[in-house]
Amino acid sequence: MAEKIDGRAIARELDALTKAEIDAMVAAGRERPGLTVVLVGDDPASEVYVTHKVRACERVGLRSAEHRLPAATTQDELLALIGRLNADAHVHGILVQVPLPDHIDERAVIEAIDPAKDVDGFHPVNVGRLSTGTGGLRPCTPLGCIKLLQSVEPDLAGMDALVIGRSNIVGKPVAMMLTALGCTVTIAHSKTRDLPGKARAADIVVAAVGIANFVKGDWIKDGAIVIDVGINRTPGENGKDRLVGDVAFDEVQHARAVTPVPGGVGPMTIAVLLANTVQAAKALSA
Ligand code: NDP
Repeated sequence: MAEKIDGRAIARELDALTKAEIDAMVAAGRERPGLTVVLVGDDPASEVYVTHKVRACERVGLRSAEHRLPAATTQDELLALIGRLNADAHVHGILVQVPLPDHIDERAVIEAIDPAKDVDGFHPVNVGRLSTGTGGLRPCTPLGCIKLLQSVEPDLAGMDALVIGRSNIVGKPVAMMLTALGCTVTIAHSKTRDLPGKARAADIVVAAVGIANFVKGDWIKDGAIVIDVGINRTPGENGKDRLVGDVAFDEVQHARAVTPVPGGVGPMTIAVLLANTVQAAKALSA
């Protein structure tokens, strides 16, 4: 049986470290770090995410503030709010929940956030810093994937990694982080030829595709480590949706370790967000 990588437990450990850092900062007379979350519109899934993020802040002792704006908010109004948050020395992290309403240019909004407060790690300055290995804030889900991998194998240097998916928010940053850690990385996407063959050659497979049970058991070599980023909703019992990953979990039990869905990568995303907010607060006050 493959080791089931317990993302909830690893996220709790990271939260404990984050809380300890916050307690130490406050004990040293420094300001308690604070995250501000901006939500535009009334997308139900986004509302749930924002509520989870605010509750998570409370758990570790971060200050949190919410700006819930109507769907009709103009881009200029949103940019003006971001300008005020950038200028507010008590705000250390700014997170604008996506997706934004269609009339707002997501890229313009991300680029308006002060890179030093960009706790999602999506600002081009932070993307550039990641690709050049010059610090900065790292995107949460990709960094969560790396922490899960390192819980199994602390030193990833020399391993062959296949990342399936080349999105800016998951695939590309995971691939850059793995490269920086000494892996030899292949990035696969919808145009890739012989994906099963490439997967079979990999010591690490990170699946970020968005297709339920896409990665089959015979794609995975014995002893590989498999990280499943996918979150796919399929009809479950009692008419309720069931979450499944991109990896056919039951078929990959010959792997060394695999993340479940739910309970794998998902819980890490918020834990890294909280850790990023503390990192931002420290850098801003340094
Ligand atoms: P995108 O849709 O932006 O990217 C999907 C990638 O998969 C693309 O690069 C696409 O290739 C590739 N792809 C699609 N079909 C195939 C195929 N048949 N063979 C090989 N590659 C293929 O998705 P995201 O990166 O945003 O998200 C991926 C998954 O991760 C989703 O299920 C999402 O819900 C989940 N997710 C989970 C998070 C978490 O916290 N756990 C956070 C973020 C995302 P191409 O570029 O050629 O189109």
